[in-house]
Amino acid sequence: MAKQDAKIIDSDPMTFYCAPSPTPGPDDLLVWEPLMHEALQLAAAAQLRGDVPVGAVVIDGSGRILGRGENRTIFENDPTAHAEILALRQAGAQVGNHRLTDAVLVVTLEPCIMCLGAVIQARLAGVVYAAADPKAGCLVSRMDGTALPWSNHHFWSLGGVLEQECSAKLSGFFKQRRQEKKISKNLAER
Ligand SMILES: [Zn+2]
Repeated sequence: MAKQDAKIIDSDPMTFYCAPSPTPGPDDLLVWEPLMHEALQLAAAAQLRGDVPVGAVVIDGSGRILGRGENRTIFENDPTAHAEILALRQAGAQVGNHRLTDAVLVVTLEPCIMCLGAVIQARLAGVVYAAADPKAGCLVSRMDGTALPWSNHHFWSLGGVLEQECSAKLSGFFKQRRQEKKISKNLAER
């Protein structure tokens, strides 16, 4: 079945959404850098509110941005408010479907296990990330979430896009937080 015919032929609401043009793949580096810049700006917005600076965008098969999200777990007191989850929620609302076949998530940090679950639920085509997360990343660092043997959905992933910029933002945030803790500890001991 041709991709452009999918909307007409396939009436199953689970797979109804299908972008008409081919989704950019892991080799399309020129596509991902500007999108990662967008995600990086969202990460900066998270940092301004005191959250860990992680930002994410979701694009459809033609490269159109369907959803944006920045980490809001601390600000909203919501353990599920990761940038990826918020971007996927907005994308689902935008297309009117919880399945986002052909869509790609672009995120500044390798997704955690919760966000990996959301990627599989959304049936994304791929995930592009900047920095790997050796502690909790579930695409390459802790496990290969792209091809779980028991999952019926596999996707591609591409890491290292604007890695230095995104890593610097994260390490700057944690350094600042350590300094703030040190200052408040010193003040408390006076
Ligand atoms: Zn996550």
